[in-house]
Amino acid sequence: MLSNSLIELDRAHLVHPVASYRGHEQQGVRVLASAKGATVTDARGHQLIDGFAGLWCVNAGYGHDSIVEAAARQMRELPYATAYFGLGSEAPIRLAAELADRAPGDLKHIYFTLGGSDAVDSTIRFIRYYWIARGQPQRDQFISIEQGYHGSSTVGAGLTALANFHTGFGIPFEWQHKIPSPYPYRNPVGQDPQAIIDASLAQLKDKIETIGPDRVAAFYAEPIQGSGGVIVPPKGWLKAMRNLCKEYGILFVADEVITGFGRTGPLFACTEDEIVPDFMTTAKGLTSGYVPMGAVFMADHVYQVIADGAGASAVGHGYTYSAHPVSAAVGLEVLKLYEEGGLLENGVKAGARLMAGLEGLRDHPLVGDVRGRGMLAAVELVTDKVAKTPLPAEAAPARRVFDRAWDNGLVIRAFANGVLGYAPPLCCTDDEIDAIIERTAKTLDQTLEDPDVRRALKD
Ligand code: PLP
Repeated sequence: MLSNSLIELDRAHLVHPVASYRGHEQQGVRVLASAKGATVTDARGHQLIDGFAGLWCVNAGYGHDSIVEAAARQMRELPYATAYFGLGSEAPIRLAAELADRAPGDLKHIYFTLGGSDAVDSTIRFIRYYWIARGQPQRDQFISIEQGYHGSSTVGAGLTALANFHTGFGIPFEWQHKIPSPYPYRNPVGQDPQAIIDASLAQLKDKIETIGPDRVAAFYAEPIQGSGGVIVPPKGWLKAMRNLCKEYGILFVADEVITGFGRTGPLFACTEDEIVPDFMTTAKGLTSGYVPMGAVFMADHVYQVIADGAGASAVGHGYTYSAHPVSAAVGLEVLKLYEEGGLLENGVKAGARLMAGLEGLRDHPLVGDVRGRGMLAAVELVTDKVAKTPLPAEAAPARRVFDRAWDNGLVIRAFANGVLGYAPPLCCTDDEIDAIIERTAKTLDQTLEDPDVRRALKD
């Protein structure tokens, strides 16, 4: 059971990520105690369906004994092995080979990290190295997209385009540029797919020409913008952007930290979009959150330039925990569960049910938009469906809607602008998906009764 002293210890000592420190001191922590399948239980015994798979990462679901055994076996045999000094160990070698085998195109070289932020950070280092090796050191400008999220490392957070990752930190750097998000629901050109694609192409072209085509090193895109509010670009958008980068000879990085490993259906969303990027960054579902790990997929043509550029010298980028054997052993087992264990297949079925269920909420007075792909979805709340007016800040959607859903037995991500994010584990049963929908409907009805929401509706 939860003891008050735990809450006090947390308040006194644990600095939480992306939190209002003062707000957290007031509210105190909610302690999670155990989990199984798609259900989490807090320290007070309250059971909830985890509609967000932790932080869009526990794709396989909780409580798989085979994952625990794979980690324990590896810990017993060889808990750590460095990949420096020409050394290695079996699990990361095998995992790299399995991933390369399934990767699109020539993404055959795998660099393991500890998570998504350092995967993105690693691409920035590799890309600078690549252009210097190609004799074009002036290619040091990077472009990403408004409302994009590329992690929280010092340089990666500058490619991220969410205000609270910049404010007070003195970033982005002057070499980090942004183009507008394709955001279909709120795109000034309207919702016509081709108009959105044309607008993004014109914006990227304009940005490249303004910076100078020979100065641009790389362009970063998420197949679906996750932390920006689950923004799903139209079909064909990613391919069009990738092709434009190819025309200009600019490297293209697909950030699949959220979309990878079955989240949108296949192992990698890039394959649905029929593109082969120069780099692909992954994490989260790679180990299903059981242990930390990320992976950078590097195209062979990039690898060869870096390898030749370095010659006999070491490419000076690495971590103590690069290619960690325990994380890799978990990754191998998780991959088996996705494929042989049928989780990818179930995710596709459950994703279709989730989308159909959320679509059924469209007529609710607060629902402005429903969007998603596979087990990645969002409902955008508004107080005026024609003007698309977001919920007022006084209604504090991130806190109040989250709390209501929590009390109703559902974990969702409630963004500050009133977007509700869904990323349930791929193992969800039909009943669990239906419960997510029912609990969301109840949460929406309760939100409609919020005095601050009612006031905004009347205006
Ligand atoms: N890139 C994307 C697209 C992400 O969504 C995230 C995390 O949510 C990251 C990078 C950073 O990953 P991590 O939190 O594992 O450092």
